Amino acid sequence: MGHRHGGISFPLAGTYSQTYPQGFSPPGNGRFSLLKTLRVALDVPLEENFDFLALEGVETPPGSLVVVPFGRSRKVGVVVLEGTGSTIALARLRAIEARVEDVPPLGAADLGLFEFCAAYYQRPLGEVIAACLPPRLRQPSRRRIPAPEPARAPTPHGFSSAHELTAPQREAIEAVRAGAGGFHPVLLHGVTGSGKTEVYLRLIADTLDRGRQALFLLPEIGLTPQFEAQVRKRFPGASVYAAHSHLNEGDRARAWLAAQSGAAQVVLGTRLAVLMPFRDLGLAIVDEEHDGSYKQQEGLRYSARDVAVRRAQKLGIPVVLGSATPSLESIANVRDGRYALARLPQRASAGSAMPAIRTVDTRADRPHDGLTFALVDAIRKRLARQEQSLIFLNRRGFSPVLFCRACSWHSTCTRCSANLVMHRRDGELRCHHCGRRSRIPAACPTCHAADLAPVGHGTQRLEDALREALPGARIARVDRDTTARKGELKRVFDAVRAGTIDVLIGTQMLAKGHDYPRLTLVGVVDCDSALFSADFRAAEKLFAQLVQVSGRAGRADRAGEVIIQTDFPTHPLYAAVASHDFDRFASDALAERRVAGFPPYSFLALLRAESKKAGEPTTFLRDAARVARGLRAAVEVFDPVPATLERKAGFERAQLLVRASSRAALQPFLRRWRSALLERGERRVRWSLDVDPQEV
Ligand code: ADP
Ligand code: ZN
Ligand code: ZN
Repeated sequence: MGHRHGGISFPLAGTYSQTYPQGFSPPGNGRFSLLKTLRVALDVPLEENFDFLALEGVETPPGSLVVVPFGRSRKVGVVVLEGTGSTIALARLRAIEARVEDVPPLGAADLGLFEFCAAYYQRPLGEVIAACLPPRLRQPSRRRIPAPEPARAPTPHGFSSAHELTAPQREAIEAVRAGAGGFHPVLLHGVTGSGKTEVYLRLIADTLDRGRQALFLLPEIGLTPQFEAQVRKRFPGASVYAAHSHLNEGDRARAWLAAQSGAAQVVLGTRLAVLMPFRDLGLAIVDEEHDGSYKQQEGLRYSARDVAVRRAQKLGIPVVLGSATPSLESIANVRDGRYALARLPQRASAGSAMPAIRTVDTRADRPHDGLTFALVDAIRKRLARQEQSLIFLNRRGFSPVLFCRACSWHSTCTRCSANLVMHRRDGELRCHHCGRRSRIPAACPTCHAADLAPVGHGTQRLEDALREALPGARIARVDRDTTARKGELKRVFDAVRAGTIDVLIGTQMLAKGHDYPRLTLVGVVDCDSALFSADFRAAEKLFAQLVQVSGRAGRADRAGEVIIQTDFPTHPLYAAVASHDFDRFASDALAERRVAGFPPYSFLALLRAESKKAGEPTTFLRDAARVARGLRAAVEVFDPVPATLERKAGFERAQLLVRASSRAALQPFLRRWRSALLERGERRVRWSLDVDPQEV
């Protein structure tokens, strides 16, 4: 493979006779240059970049996409350096095959961003670039993609907005404008319904006015159509592109090229949009900045929020992080004076109050099939008033586990250390981690008793219980199982809006962003486990989720009510949620983090390892820990532990945590540790580093 392997002897000059697909330049005069070498980043699981000879008469400055021979195949790579020599013997160097004509070279700022991501997240540059290039543009043979149309005439401004800004909205906008000339991170902390969207739209208008591009990030694909519609309505003349993984390859490539050429004025999308190239980015906005889905959980494990801030810093532009429940990292940044703070403390529309939140003590009011008397009663009142209720539960399936009362057997996945979830409608047990499915057994596989019963409350089981308790009510369930069919989610949301659904049951898919004027009750079921989770962020996530789902209750003229069923009604977290006191929660949580030495008061990285062979990951990690300690850096090295999900799809997984008091201490250590590990050439165990992990 490649020029580094195989010892292919290469002529010192040559002529190409191959025909090239549309979209690629013929190789100049057909001769390669012996004077110019190119270092090319390729998407291969190897650390180094590769050297090739340039083609005579074909300009391939850094950032250029080129097609190169690789083993017996061809690959698209990105030139990172032009030079006049290589550590590889000249005779063994191969020439690039062609320059990719229909993709302009990446700009220095974009290339710099990718280099930063590679260094910070400890991944090969080629892999980072591959993650940043849409799949279509990585194909060595494909049809030519037409150049994006240049942006249309500037948007007619003086656009109409339905609202007079509230005073806090005005102040928030001013707070961003105040630093518009340079890097200016602003945390926009606004309660649900406080009108953050209006603030975003006005800031985007400012940016378009200056002829620059705006990037808007959302945590979930499901939220993009709604925001896209708002942006298009507000800026009818502007060219707006969505960017997310559900686009087909052609659209994704077109959005990417439009962002790169400057034809796209507004790009809105999920985390991957932060890695798009921009010709002249003038503003970045990260909505729901606290959301864990901004962190990619495999491959290049980047945080789109953090990359957005970094990018804004490099470009010297404002970046706005918006949330009703900001991350503790961002709160700490405000406290330390690194971020400016703008607050929207009240709901924007006149007369719209925050919902009344209360707990129901499930030790006194014992739930029947997951439902307390108080909650059923509250739903009945809504039905009588023709209002809607939302029952929120953070788990899908009928029930987490099938359980044998006789011998305590329960349904577990043979490939993962996880319970199989019972999906009664389909008569199946399913593993939510590896996808394994099996029929629901009629009797216990261990003791053959027929006394099998589900434990816990999945969405299906709640649905059945509600149908029984509320005959005649129109009930719909939304979770990943019911919405696997395309368009189903939208159908349910439309029905809620049209008023043809009385009770909506669902998981976190329902927590965000959807506005229903007739929805006045939110019931929260089964969320206590997060209070006692091993995940140090569990409480923060629970708080955010409760605030978000509470935000669905009541708008404008109708007051909302939220009922949280819990065994721990006096827990301080619920008290803070009930009194809408985020600051209190954040102060307490930050104090705990400080004592425990967790982020934002420390910086973490996880070395993850997995292998099909039991014991190997731990052996590898023990060795890795020894290597780490040997580096004598100002870094704490813990002991290997099993991953939260110890077996997944037949792999045993373990992890090793390291902690430092600053990024400045952690980063050089990680670089040295990683090269030391690479040098050992581990083959039995797959390993990777996770910098700033979400869960440890
Ligand atoms: P958030 O994103 O902060 O949860 P939204 O942006 O969805 O809040 O706004 C909530 C509601 O308030 C929307 O219906 C919006 O139209 C309305 N709204 C926003 N700004 C104003 C304003 N200045 N005056 C009146 N209503 C407003
Ligand atoms: Zn049994
Ligand atoms: Zn499994």
